[in-house]
Amino acid sequence: MKQKRKKRPKPGEPQHITKAVTQIRLLEANAGKLVALDELAPVYLLLCQQYVMLFCMEEAPDKLRAPLYPTPLSERWHRVAIMQAAGIARSWRTNRAQAYQQYQEDLERYQQHQADGTSRAKATEPVWHEWNVPTLREPCIQANINVVKLEESRDSTYDYWLTISTLSKGQPMQVPVKLAAYHKEQLMDPKTHLARKLNTSVQLNQREGLWWLTLSYDEEVTVQTPPDAPVVGIDVGIANFVTTSTGKHYGSFHKNLRARHKRDRAKRRRKAKLRACLKKKGVQKLPSTSSRTGQRLIRHVKQEINYAVNQCYKDPDHQDVQFAYEQLSVASMRFKARAQNAYLRASHLGHIPQQILWNSQKRGVVATPVISAYSSQECSVCHYTDRKNRPDQRTFRCQVCGFEAHADHNAAINLSRRVGDTQLRACRDRTAIKTVLMQRHEAWKQQQGMEHTRPVTRRKRGKSSAAASSI
Ligand SMILES: [Zn+2]
Repeated sequence: MKQKRKKRPKPGEPQHITKAVTQIRLLEANAGKLVALDELAPVYLLLCQQYVMLFCMEEAPDKLRAPLYPTPLSERWHRVAIMQAAGIARSWRTNRAQAYQQYQEDLERYQQHQADGTSRAKATEPVWHEWNVPTLREPCIQANINVVKLEESRDSTYDYWLTISTLSKGQPMQVPVKLAAYHKEQLMDPKTHLARKLNTSVQLNQREGLWWLTLSYDEEVTVQTPPDAPVVGIDVGIANFVTTSTGKHYGSFHKNLRARHKRDRAKRRRKAKLRACLKKKGVQKLPSTSSRTGQRLIRHVKQEINYAVNQCYKDPDHQDVQFAYEQLSVASMRFKARAQNAYLRASHLGHIPQQILWNSQKRGVVATPVISAYSSQECSVCHYTDRKNRPDQRTFRCQVCGFEAHADHNAAINLSRRVGDTQLRACRDRTAIKTVLMQRHEAWKQQQGMEHTRPVTRRKRGKSSAAASSI
Protein backbone atom coordinates (compact mmCIF):
# COMPACT_ATOMS: atom_id res chain seq x y z
CA MET A 1 0.00 0.00 0.00
CA LYS A 2 1.60 3.22 -1.11
CA GLN A 3 0.72 6.32 0.80
CA LYS A 4 1.91 9.82 0.24
CA ARG A 5 3.68 10.84 3.39
CA LYS A 6 3.57 14.53 4.15
CA LYS A 7 6.88 16.07 4.93
CA ARG A 8 7.08 16.63 8.65
CA PRO A 9 7.39 20.35 9.42
CA LYS A 10 10.69 21.47 10.93
CA PRO A 11 10.89 23.78 13.94
CA GLY A 12 10.54 27.42 12.96
CA GLU A 13 9.06 26.51 9.60
CA PRO A 14 5.71 28.19 8.92
CA GLN A 15 2.84 25.89 8.09
CA HIS A 16 -0.60 26.78 6.72
CA ILE A 17 -3.73 25.34 8.23
CA THR A 18 -7.33 26.02 7.22
CA LYS A 19 -9.76 26.87 9.97
CA ALA A 20 -13.53 26.95 9.62
CA VAL A 21 -16.04 29.46 10.93
CA THR A 22 -19.19 27.39 11.31
CA GLN A 23 -22.83 27.83 12.27
CA ILE A 24 -23.52 31.10 10.49
CA ARG A 25 -27.25 31.22 9.91
CA LEU A 26 -28.29 32.57 6.52
CA LEU A 27 -30.80 35.36 6.99
CA GLU A 28 -33.95 35.89 5.07
CA ALA A 29 -33.77 39.60 4.45
CA ASN A 30 -37.12 39.53 2.71
CA ALA A 31 -39.68 36.77 3.10
CA GLY A 32 -39.10 34.07 0.51
CA LYS A 33 -35.60 35.28 -0.28
CA LEU A 34 -34.07 31.83 0.04
CA VAL A 35 -36.68 30.11 -2.15
CA ALA A 36 -34.29 30.12 -5.11
CA LEU A 37 -31.73 28.32 -2.95
CA ASP A 38 -34.37 25.84 -1.75
CA GLU A 39 -35.17 25.11 -5.40
CA LEU A 40 -31.53 24.67 -6.36
CA ALA A 41 -30.66 22.30 -3.48
CA PRO A 42 -32.49 19.10 -4.55
CA VAL A 43 -31.33 19.52 -8.17
CA TYR A 44 -27.74 19.91 -7.04
CA LEU A 45 -28.02 17.01 -4.57
CA LEU A 46 -29.36 14.67 -7.27
CA LEU A 47 -26.59 15.57 -9.72
CA CYS A 48 -23.89 15.23 -7.09
CA GLN A 49 -25.29 11.82 -6.08
CA GLN A 50 -25.16 10.60 -9.69
CA TYR A 51 -21.45 11.43 -9.91
CA VAL A 52 -20.81 9.88 -6.50
CA MET A 53 -22.29 6.62 -7.85
CA LEU A 54 -20.22 6.91 -11.01
CA PHE A 55 -16.94 7.64 -9.19
CA CYS A 56 -17.49 4.94 -6.57
CA MET A 57 -18.62 2.14 -8.85
CA GLU A 58 -17.44 2.71 -12.40
CA GLU A 59 -14.74 5.30 -12.84
CA ALA A 60 -11.81 6.67 -10.88
CA PRO A 61 -12.79 9.95 -9.22
CA ASP A 62 -11.83 12.84 -11.48
CA LYS A 63 -12.82 16.39 -10.67
CA LEU A 64 -12.04 17.46 -14.23
CA ARG A 65 -14.27 14.81 -15.79
CA ALA A 66 -16.39 15.95 -18.75
CA PRO A 67 -20.08 16.44 -17.77
CA LEU A 68 -22.11 13.30 -18.34
CA TYR A 69 -25.60 13.74 -16.92
CA PRO A 70 -28.24 16.19 -18.15
CA THR A 71 -29.24 18.85 -15.61
CA PRO A 72 -30.95 22.24 -15.52
CA LEU A 73 -27.92 23.56 -13.60
CA SER A 74 -25.43 25.85 -15.26
CA GLU A 75 -22.08 24.56 -16.50
CA ARG A 76 -20.35 26.18 -13.53
CA TRP A 77 -22.67 24.56 -11.00
CA HIS A 78 -22.25 21.27 -12.86
CA ARG A 79 -18.48 21.50 -12.37
CA VAL A 80 -18.88 22.24 -8.64
CA ALA A 81 -21.06 19.12 -8.29
CA ILE A 82 -18.48 16.96 -10.12
CA MET A 83 -15.66 18.28 -7.93
CA GLN A 84 -17.56 17.66 -4.72
CA ALA A 85 -18.61 14.17 -5.81
CA ALA A 86 -15.02 13.31 -6.74
CA GLY A 87 -13.89 14.30 -3.24
CA ILE A 88 -16.60 12.22 -1.55
CA ALA A 89 -15.86 9.20 -3.76
CA ARG A 90 -12.11 9.47 -3.22
CA SER A 91 -12.35 9.26 0.56
CA TRP A 92 -14.96 6.49 0.32
CA ARG A 93 -12.65 4.48 -1.92
CA THR A 94 -9.67 5.00 0.40
CA ASN A 95 -11.62 3.91 3.47
CA ARG A 96 -13.08 0.91 1.70
CA ALA A 97 -9.69 -0.19 0.35
CA GLN A 98 -8.21 0.04 3.85
CA ALA A 99 -11.06 -1.99 5.33
CA TYR A 100 -10.77 -4.57 2.56
CA GLN A 101 -7.04 -4.95 3.08
CA GLN A 102 -7.65 -5.36 6.78
CA TYR A 103 -10.22 -8.05 6.02
CA GLN A 104 -7.72 -9.91 3.85
CA GLU A 105 -5.09 -9.76 6.58
CA ASP A 106 -7.63 -11.01 9.13
CA LEU A 107 -8.59 -13.85 6.81
CA GLU A 108 -4.98 -14.81 6.20
CA ARG A 109 -4.28 -14.86 9.93
CA TYR A 110 -7.43 -16.92 10.53
CA GLN A 111 -6.45 -19.45 7.87
CA GLN A 112 -2.92 -19.68 9.27
CA HIS A 113 -4.28 -20.36 12.76
CA GLN A 114 -6.62 -22.99 11.31
CA ALA A 115 -3.78 -24.64 9.44
CA ASP A 116 -1.37 -24.86 12.38
CA GLY A 117 -4.13 -25.62 14.90
CA THR A 118 -3.58 -22.55 17.08
CA SER A 119 -6.97 -20.95 16.56
CA ARG A 120 -9.09 -20.12 19.55
CA ALA A 121 -12.34 -22.01 20.10
CA LYS A 122 -14.46 -18.90 19.59
CA ALA A 123 -12.68 -17.81 16.40
CA THR A 124 -14.94 -17.45 13.37
CA GLU A 125 -13.94 -16.91 9.77
CA PRO A 126 -13.93 -13.20 8.87
CA VAL A 127 -16.65 -12.24 6.37
CA TRP A 128 -16.48 -9.32 3.95
CA HIS A 129 -19.61 -7.16 3.79
CA GLU A 130 -19.57 -5.00 0.68
CA TRP A 131 -19.88 -1.29 1.43
CA ASN A 132 -22.82 0.78 0.27
CA VAL A 133 -22.17 3.80 -1.91
CA PRO A 134 -22.60 6.96 0.20
CA THR A 135 -26.07 8.47 0.07
CA LEU A 136 -26.31 12.25 0.26
CA ARG A 137 -29.25 13.03 2.50
CA GLU A 138 -29.09 16.66 3.50
CA PRO A 139 -27.99 19.30 1.02
CA CYS A 140 -24.34 20.27 1.47
CA ILE A 141 -22.84 22.49 -1.20
CA GLN A 142 -19.10 23.07 -1.36
CA ALA A 143 -19.14 26.10 -3.60
CA ASN A 144 -16.34 28.08 -5.17
CA ILE A 145 -16.15 31.63 -6.43
CA ASN A 146 -17.61 30.61 -9.81
CA VAL A 147 -21.05 30.06 -8.31
CA VAL A 148 -21.07 31.81 -4.93
CA LYS A 149 -19.31 35.12 -4.46
CA LEU A 150 -18.56 36.44 -0.97
CA GLU A 151 -18.14 40.19 -0.67
CA GLU A 152 -17.72 42.52 2.27
CA SER A 153 -20.76 44.65 2.91
CA ARG A 154 -20.44 48.36 2.31
CA ASP A 155 -23.06 49.39 4.84
CA SER A 156 -22.95 48.52 8.50
CA THR A 157 -26.19 46.53 8.76
CA TYR A 158 -24.55 43.36 7.44
CA ASP A 159 -21.01 42.00 7.37
CA TYR A 160 -21.01 40.25 4.00
CA TRP A 161 -23.13 39.65 0.96
CA LEU A 162 -23.33 36.35 -0.86
CA THR A 163 -24.11 36.40 -4.55
CA ILE A 164 -25.41 32.96 -5.52
CA SER A 165 -26.12 31.84 -9.08
CA THR A 166 -29.52 30.20 -9.31
CA LEU A 167 -31.41 27.96 -11.71
CA SER A 168 -32.56 31.06 -13.57
CA LYS A 169 -29.77 32.20 -15.83
CA GLY A 170 -28.61 35.77 -15.27
CA GLN A 171 -30.67 36.11 -12.10
CA PRO A 172 -28.34 35.59 -9.17
CA MET A 173 -29.69 35.97 -5.66
CA GLN A 174 -28.20 38.25 -3.05
CA VAL A 175 -28.13 37.04 0.54
CA PRO A 176 -26.88 39.16 3.44
CA VAL A 177 -24.62 37.62 6.09
CA LYS A 178 -24.52 38.85 9.64
CA LEU A 179 -21.85 37.47 11.93
CA ALA A 180 -22.32 36.91 15.65
CA ALA A 181 -19.87 38.47 18.09
CA TYR A 182 -18.06 35.15 18.58
CA HIS A 183 -17.65 34.74 14.82
CA LYS A 184 -16.07 38.18 14.62
CA GLU A 185 -13.79 37.37 17.51
CA GLN A 186 -12.63 34.22 15.77
CA LEU A 187 -11.95 36.15 12.58
CA MET A 188 -9.85 38.77 14.35
CA ASP A 189 -6.12 38.23 14.10
CA PRO A 190 -4.84 38.72 17.67
CA LYS A 191 -1.45 39.94 16.41
CA THR A 192 -2.55 42.61 13.97
CA HIS A 193 -6.10 43.26 15.31
CA LEU A 194 -7.31 43.17 11.73
CA ALA A 195 -9.97 40.89 10.30
CA ARG A 196 -8.46 37.83 8.66
CA LYS A 197 -8.68 37.31 4.93
CA LEU A 198 -11.40 34.78 4.13
CA ASN A 199 -11.03 32.01 1.56
CA THR A 200 -13.19 32.34 -1.52
CA SER A 201 -14.72 28.87 -1.22
CA VAL A 202 -17.72 28.55 1.08
CA GLN A 203 -19.98 25.74 2.24
CA LEU A 204 -23.77 25.91 2.36
CA ASN A 205 -25.76 23.41 4.40
CA GLN A 206 -29.48 22.92 4.73
CA ARG A 207 -30.58 21.35 7.98
CA GLU A 208 -34.21 20.96 8.93
CA GLY A 209 -35.25 23.64 6.50
CA LEU A 210 -32.69 26.23 7.61
CA TRP A 211 -29.61 27.33 5.69
CA TRP A 212 -26.18 27.57 7.30
CA LEU A 213 -22.97 29.01 5.97
CA THR A 214 -19.40 27.89 6.72
CA LEU A 215 -16.54 30.26 5.96
CA SER A 216 -12.86 29.45 6.21
CA TYR A 217 -9.51 31.19 6.48
CA ASP A 218 -5.87 30.15 6.38
CA GLU A 219 -3.68 30.62 9.38
CA GLU A 220 0.08 30.45 9.56
CA VAL A 221 1.40 28.35 12.41
CA THR A 222 5.08 27.98 13.24
CA VAL A 223 6.29 24.71 14.67
CA GLN A 224 7.52 25.42 18.19
CA THR A 225 8.82 22.00 19.19
CA PRO A 226 12.62 21.76 19.41
CA PRO A 227 13.95 18.63 17.69
CA ASP A 228 15.26 17.15 20.96
CA ALA A 229 12.01 17.69 22.87
CA PRO A 230 11.10 14.73 25.08
CA VAL A 231 8.48 12.42 23.56
CA VAL A 232 5.17 11.81 25.32
CA GLY A 233 3.36 8.68 24.08
CA ILE A 234 -0.43 8.63 23.73
CA ASP A 235 -2.46 5.44 23.96
CA VAL A 236 -6.04 5.58 22.71
CA GLY A 237 -8.90 3.58 24.18
CA ILE A 238 -12.47 3.33 25.35
CA ALA A 239 -12.09 3.12 29.12
CA ASN A 240 -9.71 6.08 28.81
CA PHE A 241 -9.87 8.08 25.59
CA VAL A 242 -6.30 9.23 26.07
CA THR A 243 -3.57 7.82 28.35
CA THR A 244 -0.08 9.33 28.25
CA SER A 245 3.33 7.86 29.01
CA THR A 246 3.44 10.43 31.83
CA GLY A 247 0.74 8.30 33.44
CA LYS A 248 -2.28 10.57 32.99
CA HIS A 249 -5.76 9.72 31.73
CA TYR A 250 -8.16 12.04 29.91
CA GLY A 251 -11.83 11.33 29.16
CA SER A 252 -13.73 8.05 29.12
CA PHE A 253 -16.50 6.38 27.21
CA HIS A 254 -17.65 4.71 30.40
CA LYS A 255 -19.51 6.71 33.04
CA ASN A 256 -22.56 8.45 31.59
CA LEU A 257 -21.80 7.99 27.86
CA ARG A 258 -22.07 4.23 28.16
CA ALA A 259 -25.38 4.39 30.02
CA ARG A 260 -26.78 6.77 27.39
CA HIS A 261 -25.60 4.50 24.61
CA LYS A 262 -27.34 1.52 26.22
CA ARG A 263 -30.60 3.45 26.50
CA ASP A 264 -30.32 4.50 22.87
CA ARG A 265 -29.78 0.91 21.72
CA ALA A 266 -32.75 -0.32 23.71
CA LYS A 267 -34.89 2.39 22.15
CA ARG A 268 -33.79 1.47 18.64
CA ARG A 269 -34.55 -2.21 19.32
CA ARG A 270 -38.05 -1.37 20.51
CA LYS A 271 -38.62 0.72 17.39
CA ALA A 272 -37.37 -2.09 15.12
CA LYS A 273 -39.71 -4.55 16.85
CA LEU A 274 -42.63 -2.19 16.38
CA ARG A 275 -41.75 -1.82 12.71
CA ALA A 276 -41.61 -5.58 12.19
CA CYS A 277 -44.95 -5.94 13.92
CA LEU A 278 -46.63 -3.23 11.83
CA LYS A 279 -45.12 -4.63 8.65
CA LYS A 280 -46.67 -8.03 9.39
CA LYS A 281 -50.05 -6.37 9.76
CA GLY A 282 -49.57 -4.74 6.37
CA VAL A 283 -49.21 -1.14 7.53
CA GLN A 284 -47.89 0.93 4.62
CA LYS A 285 -46.20 3.85 6.33
CA LEU A 286 -43.67 2.55 8.86
CA PRO A 287 -42.04 4.63 11.59
CA SER A 288 -38.35 5.38 10.98
CA THR A 289 -35.62 3.58 12.92
CA SER A 290 -33.13 6.43 12.82
CA SER A 291 -32.97 8.20 16.12
CA ARG A 292 -32.35 11.81 16.84
CA THR A 293 -30.99 10.98 20.29
CA GLY A 294 -28.49 8.64 18.58
CA GLN A 295 -27.22 11.50 16.41
CA ARG A 296 -26.98 13.72 19.45
CA LEU A 297 -25.05 11.01 21.30
CA ILE A 298 -22.48 10.73 18.52
CA ARG A 299 -21.99 14.49 18.61
CA HIS A 300 -21.64 14.34 22.37
CA VAL A 301 -19.00 11.57 22.23
CA LYS A 302 -17.00 13.63 19.74
CA GLN A 303 -17.21 16.70 21.97
CA GLU A 304 -15.96 14.68 24.95
CA ILE A 305 -13.07 13.39 22.82
CA ASN A 306 -12.20 16.92 21.70
CA TYR A 307 -12.23 18.09 25.31
CA ALA A 308 -10.03 15.18 26.47
CA VAL A 309 -7.41 15.75 23.74
CA ASN A 310 -7.43 19.48 24.42
CA GLN A 311 -6.82 18.91 28.16
CA CYS A 312 -3.93 16.61 27.31
CA TYR A 313 -2.22 19.27 25.18
CA LYS A 314 -2.92 22.02 27.73
CA ASP A 315 -1.54 20.04 30.66
CA PRO A 316 1.36 21.96 32.28
CA ASP A 317 3.35 18.71 32.26
CA HIS A 318 3.02 18.52 28.49
CA GLN A 319 4.56 21.83 27.49
CA ASP A 320 7.75 21.81 25.39
CA VAL A 321 7.26 18.16 24.51
CA GLN A 322 6.42 16.30 21.32
CA PHE A 323 3.83 13.56 21.06
CA ALA A 324 3.77 10.06 19.60
CA TYR A 325 0.38 8.49 19.01
CA GLU A 326 -0.93 5.28 17.58
CA GLN A 327 -2.46 5.40 14.14
CA LEU A 328 -5.40 3.08 14.75
CA SER A 329 -6.19 0.48 12.12
CA VAL A 330 -9.62 -1.11 11.86
CA ALA A 331 -8.19 -4.31 13.38
CA SER A 332 -6.66 -2.64 16.40
CA MET A 333 -9.87 -0.67 16.92
CA ARG A 334 -11.79 -3.92 16.89
CA PHE A 335 -9.27 -5.43 19.26
CA LYS A 336 -9.57 -2.52 21.63
CA ALA A 337 -13.33 -2.77 21.56
CA ARG A 338 -13.43 -6.56 21.65
CA ALA A 339 -15.33 -6.87 24.90
CA GLN A 340 -17.67 -4.11 23.87
CA ASN A 341 -18.07 -4.30 20.13
CA ALA A 342 -21.48 -2.72 20.26
CA TYR A 343 -19.93 0.42 21.68
CA LEU A 344 -17.32 0.68 18.97
CA ARG A 345 -19.35 2.82 16.61
CA ALA A 346 -20.59 5.08 19.34
CA SER A 347 -17.17 5.49 20.87
CA HIS A 348 -15.73 6.66 17.57
CA LEU A 349 -12.20 5.70 18.43
CA GLY A 350 -11.00 6.90 15.05
CA HIS A 351 -11.94 10.44 15.98
CA ILE A 352 -9.22 10.53 18.65
CA PRO A 353 -6.13 10.35 16.37
CA GLN A 354 -7.77 12.95 14.09
CA GLN A 355 -8.11 15.29 17.05
CA ILE A 356 -4.52 14.64 18.16
CA LEU A 357 -3.31 15.57 14.68
CA TRP A 358 -5.50 18.68 14.51
CA ASN A 359 -4.38 19.89 17.95
CA SER A 360 -0.74 19.45 17.02
CA GLN A 361 -1.23 21.41 13.79
CA LYS A 362 -3.05 24.34 15.31
CA ARG A 363 -0.64 24.59 18.24
CA GLY A 364 2.53 24.07 16.22
CA VAL A 365 3.46 21.00 18.28
CA VAL A 366 5.02 17.96 16.63
CA ALA A 367 2.94 14.76 16.90
CA THR A 368 4.12 11.64 15.08
CA PRO A 369 1.96 8.62 14.27
CA VAL A 370 3.82 5.45 15.19
CA ILE A 371 3.35 1.70 14.67
CA SER A 372 0.94 0.43 17.29
CA ALA A 373 1.32 -3.34 16.80
CA TYR A 374 1.88 -5.16 20.11
CA SER A 375 2.18 -1.89 22.02
CA SER A 376 -0.34 -3.25 24.51
CA GLN A 377 1.36 -6.64 24.90
CA GLU A 378 5.00 -5.54 25.01
CA CYS A 379 6.61 -5.03 28.41
CA SER A 380 8.05 -1.52 28.57
CA VAL A 381 10.87 -2.74 30.83
CA CYS A 382 12.11 -5.99 29.26
CA HIS A 383 10.28 -6.03 25.86
CA TYR A 384 8.79 -9.47 26.54
CA THR A 385 5.72 -9.58 24.27
CA ASP A 386 2.87 -11.94 25.08
CA ARG A 387 -0.90 -11.86 25.22
CA LYS A 388 -0.61 -13.36 28.69
CA ASN A 389 0.97 -10.13 29.93
CA ARG A 390 -2.59 -8.82 30.05
CA PRO A 391 -4.49 -10.74 32.75
CA ASP A 392 -7.39 -8.34 32.25
CA GLN A 393 -8.36 -5.26 30.27
CA ARG A 394 -6.80 -2.70 32.59
CA THR A 395 -3.78 -4.55 34.00
CA PHE A 396 -0.35 -5.17 32.55
CA ARG A 397 1.76 -7.76 34.34
CA CYS A 398 4.95 -8.97 32.69
CA GLN A 399 5.32 -12.74 32.74
CA VAL A 400 9.10 -12.46 32.79
CA CYS A 401 10.30 -9.46 34.79
CA GLY A 402 7.12 -8.98 36.81
CA PHE A 403 6.69 -5.31 35.87
CA GLU A 404 3.15 -4.22 36.69
CA ALA A 405 1.31 -1.10 35.52
CA HIS A 406 -1.97 0.23 34.18
CA ALA A 407 -2.20 -1.46 30.76
CA ASP A 408 -2.76 1.81 28.87
CA HIS A 409 0.14 3.49 30.66
CA ASN A 410 2.50 0.65 29.70
CA ALA A 411 1.31 0.91 26.06
CA ALA A 412 1.82 4.70 26.04
CA ILE A 413 5.43 4.26 27.23
CA ASN A 414 6.04 1.79 24.38
CA LEU A 415 4.54 4.21 21.85
CA SER A 416 6.70 7.08 23.10
CA ARG A 417 9.81 5.08 22.16
CA ARG A 418 8.69 4.20 18.67
CA VAL A 419 9.37 7.62 17.12
CA GLY A 420 12.25 7.12 14.71
CA ASP A 421 12.32 3.36 15.34
CA THR A 422 13.51 2.46 11.85
CA GLN A 423 13.91 -1.22 12.69
CA LEU A 424 10.18 -1.56 13.52
CA ARG A 425 9.16 0.60 10.58
CA ALA A 426 11.03 -1.71 8.21
CA CYS A 427 8.92 -4.70 9.33
CA ARG A 428 6.54 -6.00 6.70
CA ASP A 429 3.93 -7.52 8.98
CA ARG A 430 2.98 -8.22 12.58
CA THR A 431 4.98 -11.44 12.71
CA ALA A 432 8.15 -9.54 11.79
CA ILE A 433 7.36 -6.91 14.45
CA LYS A 434 6.95 -9.56 17.11
CA THR A 435 10.25 -11.16 16.10
CA VAL A 436 12.06 -7.83 16.50
CA LEU A 437 10.47 -7.23 19.92
CA MET A 438 11.45 -10.69 21.14
CA GLN A 439 15.02 -10.11 19.88
CA ARG A 440 15.09 -6.99 22.03
CA HIS A 441 13.84 -9.05 24.93
CA GLU A 442 16.71 -11.53 24.41
CA ALA A 443 19.16 -8.64 24.37
CA TRP A 444 17.66 -7.34 27.63
CA LYS A 445 18.04 -10.77 29.23
CA GLN A 446 21.69 -10.98 28.23
CA GLN A 447 22.25 -7.56 29.68
CA GLN A 448 20.66 -8.72 32.93
CA GLY A 449 22.87 -11.79 32.92
CA MET A 450 19.84 -14.02 32.59
CA GLU A 451 19.81 -16.67 29.98
CA HIS A 452 16.67 -18.66 29.39
CA THR A 453 15.15 -18.13 32.79
CA ARG A 454 11.70 -16.95 33.66
CA PRO A 455 11.45 -15.88 37.31
CA VAL A 456 7.64 -16.00 37.42
CA THR A 457 7.30 -19.55 36.15
CA ARG A 458 10.38 -20.66 38.04
CA ARG A 459 8.88 -19.49 41.30
CA LYS A 460 5.79 -21.59 40.63
CA ARG A 461 7.89 -24.59 39.70
CA GLY A 462 9.97 -24.05 42.84
CA LYS A 463 6.82 -24.22 44.96
CA SER A 464 5.56 -27.40 43.37
CA SER A 465 8.96 -29.08 43.56
CA ALA A 466 9.20 -28.13 47.23
CA ALA A 467 5.78 -29.65 47.73
CA ALA A 468 6.87 -32.75 45.84
CA SER A 469 10.01 -33.17 47.91
CA SER A 470 8.09 -32.87 51.16
CA ILE A 471 5.90 -35.81 50.25
ZN1 LIG B 1 9.00 -7.39 31.49
